Amino acid sequence: RFITLEGGEGAGKSTQALRLAGSLAAAGLPVLRTREPGGAPGAEALRAVLLGRGPSEPWDPVTEALLHFAARREHLAHTLRPALAAGIWVVCDRFLDSTVAYQCFGQGVPRALVDGLAALTLDGLRPDLTLVLDLPPAIGLGRVATRGGADRYERMPDATHERIRAGFRAIAAAEPERCELVEAARPPDVVAASLREAVGRRLG
Ligand code: C5P
Repeated sequence: RFITLEGGEGAGKSTQALRLAGSLAAAGLPVLRTREPGGAPGAEALRAVLLGRGPSEPWDPVTEALLHFAARREHLAHTLRPALAAGIWVVCDRFLDSTVAYQCFGQGVPRALVDGLAALTLDGLRPDLTLVLDLPPAIGLGRVATRGGADRYERMPDATHERIRAGFRAIAAAEPERCELVEAARPPDVVAASLREAVGRRLG
């Protein structure tokens, strides 16, 4: 089973991925927690390239999308496919929906470009369940500031963060059979419980 967590900055994806993987493991399931960009050696190297540029030298948005797909292909080939083939439950912090939300909704990359790259490079891999952690960007960015400093993305204009949030909500609304929209402004324990409930209800 392939479960992805999606959402904007400070939505709690990493915390919730850890907790969800923990509860699946406690239920006796083999589970792998991973992330994007990253999750395989080459993909982590590309993550450092993606995040390493200063805010004053932005990526061309299409270049950025291509780098995310290069990293994703490494992740797919070296981590996701082998794990899923071995029957391991995979909990992944970000996947394709982040590219649609950030690069298409956030930065204006044509949706057809990202959809085309997905069709050409992902071998049809699609999450069984996507948990979309939704919260107002002001709250998420406040959490990010508290945990110690924003990276180059977290310093994007407020309007960009709003478009990214709207993008995630649009994805969840367009694919309700795959996506569960979860209100992430609630306390972490409450969010964790609602994620466990969604996984149990939708994946058994
Ligand atoms: O979620 P995480 O903090 O690990 O993601 C790293 C950064 O990469 C985030 O700040 C996010 O804004 C950015 N990102 C992006 N486009 C993606 C995926 C992540 O701009 N497709």
